[in-house]
Amino acid sequence: MNNDNNSIHDFDFNLICEYFSSMDRQGPGSDSSTLRALSFIDGLTEQSAIADLGCGTGTPTLTLARHTPCRITALDLFPTFINKLQSRCQQEGLQHRVNPVVGDMCQLPFTPESFDLLWCEGAIYNIGFKRGVHEWRQYLRPNGYIAVSDAVWLTNQRPTEIEQFWLDAYPEIDTIGAKLSTLQDEGYHPVAMFVLPDICWTDHFYTPAVKAQEAFLSRHIDNPTAINLVANQRREAELYHRYHRHYGYAFFIAQKQ
Ligand code: SAH
Repeated sequence: MNNDNNSIHDFDFNLICEYFSSMDRQGPGSDSSTLRALSFIDGLTEQSAIADLGCGTGTPTLTLARHTPCRITALDLFPTFINKLQSRCQQEGLQHRVNPVVGDMCQLPFTPESFDLLWCEGAIYNIGFKRGVHEWRQYLRPNGYIAVSDAVWLTNQRPTEIEQFWLDAYPEIDTIGAKLSTLQDEGYHPVAMFVLPDICWTDHFYTPAVKAQEAFLSRHIDNPTAINLVANQRREAELYHRYHRHYGYAFFIAQKQ
């Protein structure tokens, strides 16, 4: 069925999914940042529809579901994450309002103008900020909102090491001003912007990751893929501790013009 390369690839892929699904969040964020972004959005009712793009195992999705009366479609590329979100919804009795779907944010399976709010926490880098806000706009109803968090530079001069790291990882990292300008160019009216506090990276992401990494390594002792994955995650955390003054995530809230 598979050639050898594909089998190895599938195996690595399963390991990556296993590691990230063992954590509540797959990227920096917090409930209070989700709620802060939500506070800028007016007029949501039981009739409103939200799409959470790149929802992961759904921690932000569940916060949205608990604090709005809306129907939520939560989409992620990886079935493991979507399955986990599905069982979390059932545990909380939210399965009637939350619809977890496996899908690709680069080819959304939606009808144009079907959402009042597009949500995307720490995931738009997979399509790129400019392409994402451009292509997703068609799925918003008139005056609908987008709320998206993405990597930004917080200084204009950066040490080469961190500049190079980000340019390799996500060349679309840019200043807040440049991202706001992109939103305006793409037909959105900016409503609010805030920089995620450090604890979104530390207490809510890198600190719980330490335990997840130990448990993961103990399950996959001597597995080079697992060792490599954890080494990369640890390097990322270490770079954050050294250079967090220079970069972060900003939450952008904007309305379709
Ligand atoms: N929003 C979640 C997850 C952020 S991590 C949170 O804040 O915790 C980024 C997510 O994007 C991962 O769950 C990853 O599986 C998903 N992803 C990556 N490429 C994708 C694609 N092409 N389409 C949809 N989701 C994608």
